[in-house]
Amino acid sequence: MNLTPMMQQYQAAKAQHPGTLLLFRMGDFYELFYDDAETAARTLHLTLTSRDGQVPMAGFPHHSLETYLRRLIEAGLRVAICEQVEEPSATTRLVRREVVRVVTPGTLVEEGLLDPREANHLAAVSLSGQRVGLAWVELTTGQFSAVDIDRDQLIDELLRLDVRECLLAESEPVELLQPAQSASSRFSITQRPDWTFHADTSLQALRQHFGVHTLAGFGFSDDQVCLRAAGALLQYLKETLFSSLGHLSRLQPYSPADTLVLDAVTCRSLELTRSMRDGSREGALLDCIDRTVTAMGARLLQQWLLAPLRQQSAIETRLDAVDELRCQHGFRTELRDALKRCRDLPRLTTRASTGRAGPRDLAAVAETLKLLPAIKALITGRAATRLRQLEADLDLCPDLRQRLETTLVDQPPATARDGGLIRSGCHAELDQLRDISRGGKEWIARFQAQEIERTGIPTLKVGFNKVFGYYIEVTHAHGSKVPADYQRKQTLKNAERYVTPELKAHEEKVLRADEQARQLEYDLFVELRDQVATAAKRLLQTAAVLAELDVIAGLAELADTQDYCRPVVTTDRILNIRRGRHPVLEQFLPAGTVVPNDTRMSEEDGLVLLITGPNMAGKSTYIRQVALVTLLAHMGSFVPAESATIGLTDRIFTRVGASDELARGQSTFMVEMTETANILNNATGQSLVILDEVGRGTSTYDGLALAWSVAEHLHDELGCRTLFATHYHELTQLAASLPLLRNYNVRVVEDGGTVVFLHEIAPGPTDQSYGIHVAELAGLPSSVVQRARQVLRQLEEQHLEARSPRRAGRRRSPVDLAQAGLFDEPDPNPD
Ligand code: ADP
Ligand code: MG
Repeated sequence: MNLTPMMQQYQAAKAQHPGTLLLFRMGDFYELFYDDAETAARTLHLTLTSRDGQVPMAGFPHHSLETYLRRLIEAGLRVAICEQVEEPSATTRLVRREVVRVVTPGTLVEEGLLDPREANHLAAVSLSGQRVGLAWVELTTGQFSAVDIDRDQLIDELLRLDVRECLLAESEPVELLQPAQSASSRFSITQRPDWTFHADTSLQALRQHFGVHTLAGFGFSDDQVCLRAAGALLQYLKETLFSSLGHLSRLQPYSPADTLVLDAVTCRSLELTRSMRDGSREGALLDCIDRTVTAMGARLLQQWLLAPLRQQSAIETRLDAVDELRCQHGFRTELRDALKRCRDLPRLTTRASTGRAGPRDLAAVAETLKLLPAIKALITGRAATRLRQLEADLDLCPDLRQRLETTLVDQPPATARDGGLIRSGCHAELDQLRDISRGGKEWIARFQAQEIERTGIPTLKVGFNKVFGYYIEVTHAHGSKVPADYQRKQTLKNAERYVTPELKAHEEKVLRADEQARQLEYDLFVELRDQVATAAKRLLQTAAVLAELDVIAGLAELADTQDYCRPVVTTDRILNIRRGRHPVLEQFLPAGTVVPNDTRMSEEDGLVLLITGPNMAGKSTYIRQVALVTLLAHMGSFVPAESATIGLTDRIFTRVGASDELARGQSTFMVEMTETANILNNATGQSLVILDEVGRGTSTYDGLALAWSVAEHLHDELGCRTLFATHYHELTQLAASLPLLRNYNVRVVEDGGTVVFLHEIAPGPTDQSYGIHVAELAGLPSSVVQRARQVLRQLEEQHLEARSPRRAGRRRSPVDLAQAGLFDEPDPNPD
């Protein structure tokens, strides 16, 4: 088939970007052809037409690009944008077109396509035996990090970072990343040529980008696997963004040893950033504690939440700063008011350094810089070390601010192409051109006077209209006096319009000046944008200060308004919480209705707490509350309690029994056990383990037996702080043989024939005949109730026989105890 030159151009662009949907700019439209047209028509509900009756075609107006892009990216597609890169003119047969951007989920910088409160991570993974190199970048803020980790940590890290797109060499097995893909619908995999991951190419890319000979200066050794991932990532960015990446000014080593580790299962079951119910932000811990007033602060808070600290001094440093802002109400209010007016500086900077910022973006940078002196004054002379450090790090960038303020008009237009954005008085040539382009009013007046005198026509007028340009208008009454050099242009009802060579020359000059002024304005704008880009490093540092101030002030606001207390952090293996509350539940229930509860864990008070109680009593809430309080303390936040002493924790593990998580619809018991295995294999004496109804996902015997042995292992082998909520009240017998295990129950009382849940944790095992009591209340015949009591007594007697003093390696099997489980009603509505 013979292709037109334009279609040849299309095919060439398409061939350069395999695997993408190509948006081909034609005038005011983006058009798609062939299969792309069909895909787009389906995804975007566009009308499918055809070009020359053969090639399927679909398109949309250029100004709707962002809307359509979002839908294409959400549908998991990669999009190449092919623009016209020269102005069409009468002489060009075919305008040049080039792909200027490939848009993928991980490389978004377009403001409208990003959630301002969330980070957008692009990652790359390289393999070397059991070691995995992981690199990731948040393009819009320029944070670029890398770390070597064990293969089995990979999925947790990818999910913790909520990675949108992950690069993997073509020859590596995609299955490696599959678990992340099934756990998160936002996760996508992009396979890349192997050579981009090769040690030489990738290291070369990094060296070149950072202008260094070795990455040792950043804290890496050049043979680390993660550098291959980082290099591959950099090359991918160059190919998709087509711009300099000046704002990626360093590669940060990430140190898991400094952070409290949260695996993906724990993040999900504690509902840290998303609620389990519908996966939305609402109802998650993050949403409840978020009092930030800027998007950059909201993103940093999420980072703090998902990577809490593990060093006591680091935690105290944050707590000191939060404390100071909490106590000083006026200071806090003023600071937050100022921050509220700050714009999203990291994302603005990135748009400038990738050449995508518009005049309004630069104005927003200026607006933010203008607020800095007041913010700096506010945080000057504070007591907290961290506030002092932030004050020192806050670069006011006065030179840049001045440039922006003297160059840009107050309210610039959205685009830089049509002029009207550069202040008058800041560039002499521009002022001159503008004067001419405004028609040179004086020149017109002079010209009109001259022509009146020359022709003797007193009513002669010089005017301008958009279609015909400049003209001389003479009424018919004076038609006879028109000189020979007047050329007729247009006839009106009672007048004629003319031009002269002199007027024509003036018109050309005016139009040219207009065009020149616009071009000059654009050039000045680009220069200004480049200046912002050059200052990227300083701007990003300042942005980091603003974000942290926002997070600290937000945590202070939270502590003050929600009546949180400052936790005492210690290296002892203890947990001592007085009148603790569940931070999320507390905000959802009517004020004052949440029941506070104490928690005491230590060698003396027991390290494994077994919580029993009927359904809906509040077991799950209680054990999560302990985990959340611990987590909040480690991120440097105050906690919802009257007082709290928190022993440093290296990891928090949470596992919710399969039957409590039916919604996930997997082979849940297998999953439950895999995740339990993860806990038993990885927990240390410093960990906090939360087990909710583990063992419930299988038959009673199996489940009880497993729950029993898991509890023993945690107690004997790991000695870690553990909260185990269970409806197997048989487990309470463990207290007889495990010295560090304590029984607690959630109190329930009967009130006038109904059961009242007090949500109050009390020492001791739950009342075992509780189920029979409920049955009695429900009106079961009294003979049946009495018989049940009798059977229960018999079973209990057997338990007593089965119990024996604990000796290492010789512990009695719980199987006989499990018979009691036969009388457990199948859970009518598992929660
Ligand atoms: P369980 O795990 O024992 O079945 P949950 O922890 O799921 O019970 O709690 C059931 C409900 O009880 C919760 O949804 C909540 O509304 C309420 N609840 C739990 N704990 C408290 C508390 N401390 N104060 C007030 N209400 C609570
Ligand atoms: Mg529960």
